[in-house]
Amino acid sequence: MKIKECLAKMKNKEKKSEFNVQNTKWTFTAEVYDEICKTIGCRRPEYGGLLGSSDGVHIDHYYFDATSERSAGVYMMDIPACNKVIHEWNDNDIELVGVIHSHPNGVTRPSHGDLLMAKNIIESINVHGRFFTPIVQVSPKLNGEIKIYPYSFEQSVEMKTPLMEIETESAEERRIAALDKKAPNRFERIKRVFPNNLMAKKKVICIGCGGSRPFLETLARCGVGTFILFDGDIVEDTNIATQGTFISELGKLKVDVIKTRILDINPLAHVVCIPKYLDNAITDEDFFKMAMLKNGDFRDTLLCGCTDNFFAQDRCAQLSVKYGIPYLAAQIFEKGKGHEVLFYYPGLTASCPRCILESRYKKILTVKKSGTGSSEGAAVCVTDYLNSIKSYTALKIFCYDEPLTPYYHELDKFADRNYFMTKCSSEFNAPAFEPIKLVEANETDLTFPFVTIAIGQTPEKGCPLCGGTSNENAPDRIIPDTRTIINPYDKPEE
Ligand SMILES: [Zn+2]
Ligand SMILES: [Zn+2]
Repeated sequence: MKIKECLAKMKNKEKKSEFNVQNTKWTFTAEVYDEICKTIGCRRPEYGGLLGSSDGVHIDHYYFDATSERSAGVYMMDIPACNKVIHEWNDNDIELVGVIHSHPNGVTRPSHGDLLMAKNIIESINVHGRFFTPIVQVSPKLNGEIKIYPYSFEQSVEMKTPLMEIETESAEERRIAALDKKAPNRFERIKRVFPNNLMAKKKVICIGCGGSRPFLETLARCGVGTFILFDGDIVEDTNIATQGTFISELGKLKVDVIKTRILDINPLAHVVCIPKYLDNAITDEDFFKMAMLKNGDFRDTLLCGCTDNFFAQDRCAQLSVKYGIPYLAAQIFEKGKGHEVLFYYPGLTASCPRCILESRYKKILTVKKSGTGSSEGAAVCVTDYLNSIKSYTALKIFCYDEPLTPYYHELDKFADRNYFMTKCSSEFNAPAFEPIKLVEANETDLTFPFVTIAIGQTPEKGCPLCGGTSNENAPDRIIPDTRTIINPYDKPEE
């Protein structure tokens, strides 16, 4: 390390004098250590950066000096850039407590140049005569593996080897652990139905998070452990009436506000926000990585298609069949007169999502149609009811293979009735509701407007997605790229 000019002289604030000057133990926070690994640890030797502390004990600030002039044998700090950072830190009561840099392998001690640099900094910016100058040894693979050798200069001249500690728990982890302690019994009343150790393994991947917010919150209250949320939307004022959002959330990403709610229910949940739409910019491989999927068993995973867009729903359906992931999709009909929920469980359901909706596919692919549905005019209670059906179905899917829950194998009853239609208005007419209409005609109508029926499904012969075969073979079908809708019909006119 070589210093070209004096660092700017600056006054340290009064507060700093409270720091224990005798303290010779330095503690890296997990975040700073991680950053050092990712920066200095992934580069050839003679890179460095500034170490800052907000309490005089923890090294909780780090600035990587990316623009330094380095050569194979010397690290030369970018003085103007570092001065800027030191000023900023000073304004925020962050004390510059050291400079860390890497040396070539085998050189684990500060050099004479390093000593002069430390002396210079101590004299020019008054850091209580103690300055931490650890030396990093990086792995030849430059893979972030590092070893830190602690050194410090005290009273300007004497070089010492101080005690050093690296925290393993991040501040976020500590915060969550503290929150978790506040409500240790929160799953007590559901543990017989949803044992927490089982639910914590479950993962929901939700594509489109607007109207699905209550659904996700319900799953969080049941202890579901991981949430992967895809949605590029921000909260707008029109969402307040329909999606359970609040004025205080306007302008924020939908995925972020949902994450806040989920963690307020279960601080141990793992929530990954992907503020994007699942569009063609995302390849199947990208999706696989973003959703943190690993090849093999997806019984603990549920993919949810919760968008209004037909083509986006199709992509979700294709991904679920391609990878063999249990699937749930929902749609509200025009003006909220009714809605549908369908699910797919590889090895159980007879029909795949496309088998169920093939007549709709045919209509949209042969007649020129936008494919975007509209839930405009749907009262939020209609959406809430839909979310209840979705949550209940999701929980049954999660517990299907869990013998310790009362929901074990309960979905067998719905293996070939994996399509639930709900009538939310007397104006809603569908052939499946004819028997109920007869009851109504007899003036013995005891039904409430919300009536849900599970409608029998038969696999579509030659289904473009699953082949109409027994679905057990479906995951083996090769679907090279789900970004294209499979269209066996005439192309729509341009
Ligand atoms: Zn050096
Ligand atoms: Zn099919």
